[in-house]
Amino acid sequence: MVFMPIFPRALGLLLGIGSLLLLAACGAVTGTGSDGSRPGQLRIVASFYPFQFVAERVAGSHATVESLTKPGAEPHDLELTPKQVGSVTDADLVVYEQHFQAAVDEAVAQSGNQNVLDTTSVVPLQDHGPLGEDEHDDHDHAGNANLDPHVWLDPNNMIKITDAVADKLTKIDPDHAADYHKNVGALDADLRQLDDSYREGLKTCQRTEFVTSHAAFGYLAERYGLQQISISGLSPDNEPSPARIAEVQHQISKYDVTTIFYETLASPAVAQSIARDLGLRTDVLDPIEGITEQSRGTNYLAVMKSNLTALEKANGCS
Ligand SMILES: [Zn+2]
Repeated sequence: MVFMPIFPRALGLLLGIGSLLLLAACGAVTGTGSDGSRPGQLRIVASFYPFQFVAERVAGSHATVESLTKPGAEPHDLELTPKQVGSVTDADLVVYEQHFQAAVDEAVAQSGNQNVLDTTSVVPLQDHGPLGEDEHDDHDHAGNANLDPHVWLDPNNMIKITDAVADKLTKIDPDHAADYHKNVGALDADLRQLDDSYREGLKTCQRTEFVTSHAAFGYLAERYGLQQISISGLSPDNEPSPARIAEVQHQISKYDVTTIFYETLASPAVAQSIARDLGLRTDVLDPIEGITEQSRGTNYLAVMKSNLTALEKANGCS
């Protein structure tokens, strides 16, 4: 009977070796295609990171997802290589947001690809004004320059986009409808939970105003009752005028703002100099336009949670 206690351990060891062998076998299955896809996998092209995240979660193992905006690149003013234009044409599904990246709009229009999801068909873009809470002057709003592209920073919009991606995939690949249905349920639940933590976390705060470098947080602010004060408008490359900086400084004292937010993909110089002048803290509020090593989290959900923590701290939420 002495060997009895040893037996389960030996069995465990054997099982462990078994799963290692199984893993090794899986890694060695058939060669992958030049684009990294396996035979039978769909090829999805997403215009930039948040849509890549959604497509990967919904498609699971049934697709490879390529983002047209490389990690660490700024998605505003994206330019496409001829190879990328080709992948838009050949993709089994393209997920993009019209009016955000002109090069993608053009590539989609020219491709004739019918398997396309334009997210503005489920989440229409809103005009949040050129500088967040600035009053509108009556200059001509020609074109779409004032339409705010940053819909993904409201989890409720991400739920709509997730559902739309799942609908498309189910039509394109009905054989795996059950998997898409399961995956969409799991992601929707994660996004609803994220929305709950935002509602809860931002319910009781000392102030609702927050200062950001570029005006990426209009949808988030509207959803959770915050006021965004942005230094440089909708695009991160806009240089703020001295008048704008003076106005931001005025609002900072008026609302007793503690923190100037900057972001990971754009220069923090202006935010830092305003903070230094006024003796305030700086912190990161990430517009999640791409994930890099500097991101506070490895995916959309994790960075959104870091953003919530930063907002709670800056605004004195209890
Ligand atoms: Zn942006």
